Amino acid sequence: MKIIFLGSPGAGKGTYSTRIARLLDVPHVSTGELFREAIKKDSDFGNQVNEYVRKGRLVPDDITIITLKKRIDEPDCQNGFILDGYPRTIPQAQALDEVVKIDVVLNLKIHEIILIRKLSARRICDKCGEIYNIIDIEETLDGMDYNMPAMHPKTPGICDKCGGTLIQRKDDRVEVIETRLKQYHQQSEPLVRYYQSRGLVEDVYVNLGIDRTISRIMKKLKPQTVIK
Ligand code: ADP
Ligand code: ZN
Repeated sequence: MKIIFLGSPGAGKGTYSTRIARLLDVPHVSTGELFREAIKKDSDFGNQVNEYVRKGRLVPDDITIITLKKRIDEPDCQNGFILDGYPRTIPQAQALDEVVKIDVVLNLKIHEIILIRKLSARRICDKCGEIYNIIDIEETLDGMDYNMPAMHPKTPGICDKCGGTLIQRKDDRVEVIETRLKQYHQQSEPLVRYYQSRGLVEDVYVNLGIDRTISRIMKKLKPQTVIK
């Protein structure tokens, strides 16, 4: 099954796409992660990419498209994959359409106020990328009840999975978050319409804890997983 996750930064794309990938036993493909790995290696490519990522700006389409195509060409992606953070622009979506047929696009929806709070409280493992969140949200906004418990590690600051150190991503600081949100509205919202016109979009409201949201998502995927 080939699935795309859409939704603004902070809607939980990383968290949900990772867990759904484990449940469906397909690779989780994140261009953000691919770029962060490249940046760690301190190659020319990594340094070039870092110029954009550290400012919260989109990496240019040509670089991004090549990076993604190379990844989904690998053998483990042949039976399906989950895309997290790709596509982010219409040209990226068109390039993807040329090489694979997508089964469903999950569009995660969340209130912007909640999202900014959640993003500033996000922590990731510097070794394995596991995501944590250190605030609890419990309130009603525009008629929607938000009940989103924190995801704390067992030991503060330490990753449960690998013992790595939990850090705040540089682009999760408030100033950079604002740039990312503006960019999302300008460049990536049209993607929702692009896939809606193909009848592929399933909206998923993210206002509850992880487990309940996961079961919401799995219910939407069920018809397709049966055919798989
Ligand atoms: P988030 O979804 O929280 O913004 P990601 O890990 O998906 O985080 O992306 C981190 C950064 O990597 C982005 O801010 C951007 O600079 C770059 N990036 C990731 N995916 C893409 C993409 N599809 N197109 C352009 N840039 C990307
Ligand atoms: Zn870890």
